[in-house]
Amino acid sequence: MPPFPPKPLSDGIPKPKRLRDIPSYMYKRVRGFLVRLFYIVRLVWDTAPWLLMLLALFCLVEGLLPVAGAYITSELLNGISHLIGEGHTESAQAFAVLRPILYLFVLEFLYLFLRRVVARLSSMVTSLSGEMVTNHIKVLIIEKSKTVDQASFDRPEFYEKLENANREASMRPIHILTATFNVISALISVISFIVVLSTLSIFAPIIVILASIPGAFINYYYRNRNFRYMRRHSKERREMNYYSNTMVNKDYAKEIKLLGLGDTFVAKYKQAFKRYFAGLKRIILREGLWQTLVSFLVVLCNCALFLYVAYTIVFENRQIGDYSLYTGALTSIAGYVTTLVTATATIYEGTLFIDNMMQYMAEKPTIVASTEQARTPVRGEHTLTLEHVSFCYPGSELDVIHDVNLTLRSGERTVLVGLNGAGKTTLIKLITRLYDPTEGRILLDGVDIRSYDPEAYHDLFGIIFQDYGKYAVTARENILFGDVRREPNDAQVREAAQNGNADQFIEELPSGYETPLTRMFEDDGIELSGGQWQKLSVARAFYKDSDILILDEPTAALDALAEMEVFRQFKKLSDGRISIFVSHRLSGAVDADQIVVLEKGCVSEIGTHDELMERRGRYFLLFSTQASRYTGVAYGDAPDAE
Ligand code: ADP
Repeated sequence: MPPFPPKPLSDGIPKPKRLRDIPSYMYKRVRGFLVRLFYIVRLVWDTAPWLLMLLALFCLVEGLLPVAGAYITSELLNGISHLIGEGHTESAQAFAVLRPILYLFVLEFLYLFLRRVVARLSSMVTSLSGEMVTNHIKVLIIEKSKTVDQASFDRPEFYEKLENANREASMRPIHILTATFNVISALISVISFIVVLSTLSIFAPIIVILASIPGAFINYYYRNRNFRYMRRHSKERREMNYYSNTMVNKDYAKEIKLLGLGDTFVAKYKQAFKRYFAGLKRIILREGLWQTLVSFLVVLCNCALFLYVAYTIVFENRQIGDYSLYTGALTSIAGYVTTLVTATATIYEGTLFIDNMMQYMAEKPTIVASTEQARTPVRGEHTLTLEHVSFCYPGSELDVIHDVNLTLRSGERTVLVGLNGAGKTTLIKLITRLYDPTEGRILLDGVDIRSYDPEAYHDLFGIIFQDYGKYAVTARENILFGDVRREPNDAQVREAAQNGNADQFIEELPSGYETPLTRMFEDDGIELSGGQWQKLSVARAFYKDSDILILDEPTAALDALAEMEVFRQFKKLSDGRISIFVSHRLSGAVDADQIVVLEKGCVSEIGTHDELMERRGRYFLLFSTQASRYTGVAYGDAPDAE
């Protein structure tokens, strides 16, 4: 399970402590920002280069169009005022009179049309790229998850990264990219309007830019406050997510209904929102107030400049269209500067989230072949040897497995017994190389298993874990998943189901083997009972033509008859294979070739049932306690349990 609540995000660069550290601090932040931005551009490029090229083209056109529009309007006004000056009154000759400026209307038409077409195309490409880029990123994430070590899932910070990457993979990258293109097109527009304005006076653009600084500053200041507030209060937002997700979680639904937890969670959700919203409301209101005050100054400044433009038109013999051109340029520059500031803040904030994805994608697997020339195990009979194997989970210093020595041979049935938490599943995870031992080594046919290609090594195993998968596919596919490398064969699926004691209930399902085993996607789906799922998972393990068969607590959800059946089939199927049966129920251990008793990570006893009963040690105690529970008859004098 991921930690709750996970830690908040940061760009990981420590704040400068001395004044002279500020330049390098700023350099690192800007560099980090650009690296993340480039990463997003790469993601879009890798999805489809034409998407990026089209977005760039639209950005250029959208940047230049406003200036073109302002010029056309100003020329039109000039033309019209000229015609007014000529004093035409005869409307019958209107066409002839208007002819000199008709081309301007054609240009105006082309401009307006182009603007709409570009806006439409741009939003179309943005929607398309949103879906395509999201899909590309989701595929990258799930492809990557194939290579991630099992051990990575034990690290809370990794899990948090994965969760965030998954969540942020949706529209965030494309929003950042479109915001970036908005910035670029706003820049193009600003520069072109500054060029236009400078023909009037070099001071005009400077004044208008200076006038927009306070507003921009307030914007930047409040974006920053907003981001920091969000970061500080991400706990409340995650709490809200947690409560709403819990309320709609299928696995929790039964308990929430019966315990009447619904109102409690709704109340907790509302409380979290109240705490989160109170501060945010204050920030939004304050920013609004400041911006209103500043806009008064900006408008005042603009009006003064408008007056100046009017003055130059009248006294410097300029044309009336110039008034619209220059005043348009003045208002546009102010507007674009604001866009530049807000969009940059949005991009900066957005790129911080992308950090999670970058770190997740950079995760390096450690379960790889130790030599460049990875070996492939030869299929058939094997000997598996554990030599002084110890192990502690990542992030812990406690040995869960301690100095285990063990030999397992094909044709021998090993039963691994021990109390809950003794380390049985962990030992299986080491044997299957989901983890590498922290000390000691495991040999397959005399060769360290780290020398084998991990995929080829994993292919030796037919296995079910205690927490086996319940896949939302048909019953047939649930069994086929035991060996997807093999051509699907229905006769073998049926045989595996029979061996796992699952054939009968599958036949009785509405569509037999083709019945979908969930109601999540299909109306005709079926929900199985715990015992039925367990039988199906045993069938999945039996379906694999494996060299090593491992059943880890495969009978926990089964009734006594079904349990005996699994023991019987296990015995039959273990011929010629290394077979390990993990159980804390000992009835199946009686005729095993070797019983391994695990206690607090150490092997305390090894032997056959008779040998261990004779020894009157831990196994004797466990067995006699269980047997007396079933029969009510005590077995001799058992040593004291702790
Ligand atoms: P068993 O299968 O015998 O019940 P396990 O092998 O599952 O025992 O667990 C052995 C010990 O290792 C337990 O104390 C358990 O808490 C700990 N453990 C199991 N999985 C992890 C993990 N992923 N990270 C840290 N500790 C773990």
